[in-house]
Amino acid sequence: MQARGRRLATTVAALVLVSVAHCTKALAQPAGLGAAMPGWTVEVSPNKPAVTRAQLTTTADLTRLIFDLTEWVTPKVTTVSKPDRVIVDLPEVEFRIDPASGQKGKGLVKAYRFGLFRSKQSRIVIDTNGPVHVKTARVEGRKQPKLIIELTRIKSGQPTAPTAQPAPADLRPTQFEDPPTLVAASNARPVIVIDPGHGGLDPGAVGSTGLLEKDVVLSVARRLKTLLDQTGRYVVVLTRDRDIFVPLQQRVDISRRHKANLFISLHADAVPEESLAGLVRGASIYTLSEFASNEQARRLAEKENAVDLLAGLAPASLDTQDEVRNILIDLLRRETDTFSAEFSNLLTNELRKHMKLARDPQRSAAFLVLQQAESPSVLIELGYMSNEEDQKLLQSLEWQTNIARAIVAAVDAFFAKRAMGAVHVP
Ligand SMILES: [Zn+2]
Repeated sequence: MQARGRRLATTVAALVLVSVAHCTKALAQPAGLGAAMPGWTVEVSPNKPAVTRAQLTTTADLTRLIFDLTEWVTPKVTTVSKPDRVIVDLPEVEFRIDPASGQKGKGLVKAYRFGLFRSKQSRIVIDTNGPVHVKTARVEGRKQPKLIIELTRIKSGQPTAPTAQPAPADLRPTQFEDPPTLVAASNARPVIVIDPGHGGLDPGAVGSTGLLEKDVVLSVARRLKTLLDQTGRYVVVLTRDRDIFVPLQQRVDISRRHKANLFISLHADAVPEESLAGLVRGASIYTLSEFASNEQARRLAEKENAVDLLAGLAPASLDTQDEVRNILIDLLRRETDTFSAEFSNLLTNELRKHMKLARDPQRSAAFLVLQQAESPSVLIELGYMSNEEDQKLLQSLEWQTNIARAIVAAVDAFFAKRAMGAVHVP
């Protein structure tokens, strides 16, 4: 473990150096087949403040998190309950530290996550073991500033919420990433919305080598967009095209606003049980269903639906209160469901040619991001980050391109059927 940690540290240093050397080139490179290496890459921009080191230490009654900074920043700290978390908001900073460094907690800290939360704002979310009091939250030192967060356990008699408890509305700001420019749909060119899961302070599943789900799916999404654009047959929109958090509701809104003819969400799964990691692998394709196809699918949807909570937001729930609207949506959904199932079939056939599929690869569950009445939608779990063989494939750029090609073939088949009148797409 120690040796691995040291190796990791050396790798970071090397990556930072390489990135600095190629900084201008990397920034100038358009998002395409050559861009976005999966895994742990550090993009260095000279203009932004950066976090260069994170330390978690404990004493008998105090847990301390120290983040070394390249510049002075002003933190805004809030505590939130259910579950207990400390949220540290910062102006946009770069995290030049191991993205998996917050996975293991100590003392009062269970784990912590960090990353871009929305445009020009970074966030650190600290999961705590029970309610805590934020004793210190300040930046010290002008020359080598450090952000210091000190937590103590709340003793009986102390107020349970030491800092103001924000209303759920405050935890759900309306504007995150600037939404993609609205493209005009035309009858000739169907609109396809590609949704790379997670992003920013939500890494998604983390592989044993430090590979992050958010990086893999963004890389595949960019490849898929490039290949679809090259056909000239589609208008393609990404729900995110950089490493930033996007709430579930906003992903659905982007699809609605663009009147997507097809919505494809990209993810990679992981099994928590180490004993199963070697056995469970392969891709699976999910469509929406109120009732999950099996217990594993139900748990997966629960996990994917909870990402807003992980980012320090109130849990996502889509507005489905209006009864009349629900009935209308239900009627419309039945038709949309047929198209989603049709696309899932085509996708399964195409993916099977290039990759190992999971057992019973076509599954269904109540994913919030698939709750779209007007747009046929699927969620692809590209493989298991917890499986060594899958992990190797997921980070292979060649494999990523092959998978993107297979998805393009399924998209082509789907819309070719529509053109022949066999499938009507709303
Ligand atoms: Zn995911």
